[in-house]
Amino acid sequence: MTLNNPLFSLEGKTALVTGSSRGLGQAIAVGLAGAGARVVLNGVNADRLEEAAGAMRALGHAVEVEAFDVTDEAAVVAAFERLDDADRPIDILVNNAGIQLRKPLIELKAEEWRRVIDTNLTSAFFVGREAAKRMIPRGYGKIVNIGSLMSAFARPTVAPYTAAKGGIKLLTQSMAAEWAEYGIQANAIGPGYMLTDMNEALTSNPQFDSWVKGRTPSRRWGKPEELVGAAVFLASAASDYVNGQILYVDGGMSAVL
Ligand code: NDP
Repeated sequence: MTLNNPLFSLEGKTALVTGSSRGLGQAIAVGLAGAGARVVLNGVNADRLEEAAGAMRALGHAVEVEAFDVTDEAAVVAAFERLDDADRPIDILVNNAGIQLRKPLIELKAEEWRRVIDTNLTSAFFVGREAAKRMIPRGYGKIVNIGSLMSAFARPTVAPYTAAKGGIKLLTQSMAAEWAEYGIQANAIGPGYMLTDMNEALTSNPQFDSWVKGRTPSRRWGKPEELVGAAVFLASAASDYVNGQILYVDGGMSAVL
């Protein structure tokens, strides 16, 4: 897909998308590349990352890979130092990497709680901080944090995920509060129920499938590529005076009870 409106053009920009070896991150990376950005893909599984990069290169996109664990502060710092060495400043950061764990709160182990919070929330702090250190002196930066419907609503069995995604909403507002004056916009996207590996067990569960379709005004699951419009908007000049917001892309689910 190519977007030609100059307001939405990402020509000359470099975007780092965490967790972009598959799923929503991969779709967002392809979308940003379609708008003209050079994209740096990230994930932990190096083979999957190379496969995703190869598919994008085959489409003619400029792609690099940076395999690192977003929960590992030292690895995040080292990745940004490699980008510095390559003189490849990040103009656009999409904090997308995340995991899900379904377990009743009362059965949850401390290690499980920490793993979900670290991957979905602390990671956005680590990567966002390293990006902002470089964006602030340049007076330019676009940060898009991937929240969730769970940034605003709770459901049973996903407490640490919900706590992390609620945290993403206010971390995004904090980033905007502290960095807006340096020409940085930090916003979030709140996807609804989307068709990715993360939801594999749910889409194949007829009861859950009909719950999602029944509760979503659009009566269907979202497709990963349906986040591209929101991501390009929040990464481009079209959103230069939008800051600290969360844009729900959920087929209308957050609009109804
Ligand atoms: P997937 O499970 O399909 O993909 C997760 C991605 O995150 C993979 O690229 C994975 O890399 C990467 N990742 C996981 N842990 C780490 C880590 N420690 N360091 C670096 N990369 C990591 O998930 P989705 O695409 O469904 O979800 C993407 C984001 O969207 C998440 O933040 C999720 O919470 C959010 N979201 C998803 C919704 C949905 O319905 N799917 C709804 C709302 C929000 P690797 O391949 O190497 O494992």
